[in-house]
Amino acid sequence: MVYGTAMLEDICYSGVTLDRAADLRRDEKWLVETLRRDTTRIIPMWREHNLILMDEETLATPQPVTFTGPHALGILQIAEHVTFLGIDRANGEAAYYAADLSAKEEPELSPIMGRAQFLNIRQAGGLMTRPDAALMTYARGMATWHKTHQFCGTCGSPTEMKTGGHQRTCSNTECGREHFPRTDPAVIMLVERPGPEGGACLLSHKSIWPQGMWSILAGFVEPGESLEDAVIREVKEEVGIDVEDVRYMGSQPWPFPASLMLGFVARAKNVDIKIDPNELEDAGWFTRDQIARLDEKGLRTPNKDSIARHIVDHWIEDI
Ligand SMILES: [Zn+2]
Repeated sequence: MVYGTAMLEDICYSGVTLDRAADLRRDEKWLVETLRRDTTRIIPMWREHNLILMDEETLATPQPVTFTGPHALGILQIAEHVTFLGIDRANGEAAYYAADLSAKEEPELSPIMGRAQFLNIRQAGGLMTRPDAALMTYARGMATWHKTHQFCGTCGSPTEMKTGGHQRTCSNTECGREHFPRTDPAVIMLVERPGPEGGACLLSHKSIWPQGMWSILAGFVEPGESLEDAVIREVKEEVGIDVEDVRYMGSQPWPFPASLMLGFVARAKNVDIKIDPNELEDAGWFTRDQIARLDEKGLRTPNKDSIARHIVDHWIEDI
C-alpha cells in the first residue's frame, strides 16, 4: 500500500493488521472480560525479546508464538503487566495482549518456550511475514516504554499503568502527570549527486557497525526542527555537504528502543566529503555499479529489514 507520495512499499516492521481499537482501552470491564476469553491471544515478552519459533535447519519462515485458553491464563498469572494491543477483525475478533514476563529468569520460562526462543526481533524480522514482524515489533515497543517510564519525569514518583497499558499516570496526586508511549523521530537520508553512470550516492561506515557494513546517513530530529531541517543539518554535520531537493520516501517503526525512521533522498550541492570523526569512520561516493559489486571488497549494505536498505535498493532501481 502506498501512502500519499511515499515511494517505498512494504517496509519491514510496518503494517500491523490489528485494529488498535483505542476506544476500548478505557473500558476496564471489557478489558477484564476479554482477558478471560478462550479466543484471546497472549504474546509473551521477556526483556525486550519476542518468543519466536525459528528453525535454522529447515529455514522455514519464523513464527511468532502466541497463547490462548488455559496456557494464556497461566502466562497472565505470572506476568508483570499486560498491554492491550488490539483486535484481529479478520479472525474471529480475537483480542491480542502482550504479557511482560521480564521479572522471571529464563530457565523459569522453559515450559512456555518449548522449542521456541526469546529472540531480538531483528534476528528474525526480515524472515517473518510482514504482519507478524510488525505485531512483534509493536509488542516490543510497548514493553520497552513501560520499562523506561516507571517513574514520572516531572516529580520522580512511581507511575501506574492505565488504559490497557497505553498510558502511565503519576501516582503523586499533587502531580498526576499523564505519560504516553514515546516515539522519537529520526531522519535517514540517501544523498545523491548527478554524474556519469547515473550519478552516485553517499555511503558511510561507523566504527560501532558490523565490519564491512556501509549505509546512508541518519540522525535524530532536534526540538524546533522540521524533518527537512534535520536532513540538511545532519548531512552537513556528518560529511560537510550541503543538500537541496529533500524528498520524502517513507517511514519505518524502529522501536529499538523508541524511534520512528523517516526516509528521504536529497541532492548534494557540493561533492567534497569532510567527515565528522566523532560520528563516522569513513564515507564515500558509490555508483550503482559499485554498490552492486560491494561484496568483491568485503563490504555490504545494511540488512534487508532496515529502511536504509529499502532506500538504497530503491535508488539502485530508480534510474
Ligand atoms: Zn509526577
